[in-house]
Amino acid sequence: MPNKSPTRTLHALFGGTFDPIHYGHLKPVEALAQEVGLQQIILLPNNVPPHRPQPEANAQQRLKMVELAIAGNPLFSVDSRELLRDSPSFTVDTLELLRKERGAKQPLAFIIGQDSLLSLHKWHRWESLLEMCHLLVCARPGYAQTLDTAELQQWLEAHQVLDPQLLSTRPHGAIYLANTPLLNISATDIRQRRHNGENCDDLLPRAVQRYIELQGLYRG
Ligand code: ATP
Repeated sequence: MPNKSPTRTLHALFGGTFDPIHYGHLKPVEALAQEVGLQQIILLPNNVPPHRPQPEANAQQRLKMVELAIAGNPLFSVDSRELLRDSPSFTVDTLELLRKERGAKQPLAFIIGQDSLLSLHKWHRWESLLEMCHLLVCARPGYAQTLDTAELQQWLEAHQVLDPQLLSTRPHGAIYLANTPLLNISATDIRQRRHNGENCDDLLPRAVQRYIELQGLYRG
């Protein structure tokens, strides 16, 4: 009998600015959890480096909105380490730390949307990401299906797996393009709608909307 690789539970992280968190984040990753068999998704709100456009909500408000969005949903938890640091951290550095904490053999995945996959080659030490984790990519409407250059597309295809079960048999190194539902929602659009006094009812959870109202966020 051939030796089968041992299967471990795949741990998954989902990073974002979450300014604010919305259904375009939550619904695709919930579907992804079903598709891939994830039991836990850890949301990782990030610090934004000073040279980049700053979020409108502060770190504490973004964290609170994430907490309200996932309250009572056992699929999700939140890791606030990036927000609590004094200085911004790169995703690859956080993943390196998590890899150390969880050990070399633990299958670990980082979830991104299709737009992030398209710009991944601009991330700090992007090629090292796959040495730390797998990448799970949620579909997002309005973004190209293929990467910018033939070289990047080759990189993608060299790492792509079609069977999500393979993700639990290796600790890192694979890319899975998921068949998640397409939601045309973005935080930019929500902020814009708020500034214009437009309704955002179906775009984000009620509790997050109430908090945004109470804090007077994205107004004026
Ligand atoms: P902004 O409009 O401010 O750029 P955003 O809505 O893209 O924000 P982020 O917090 O920057 O939200 O996104 C975090 C992650 O969620 C990214 O990997 C992004 O690709 C993914 N994502 C955001 N919105 C969607 C969506 N509607 N469908 C699929 N993935 C999404």
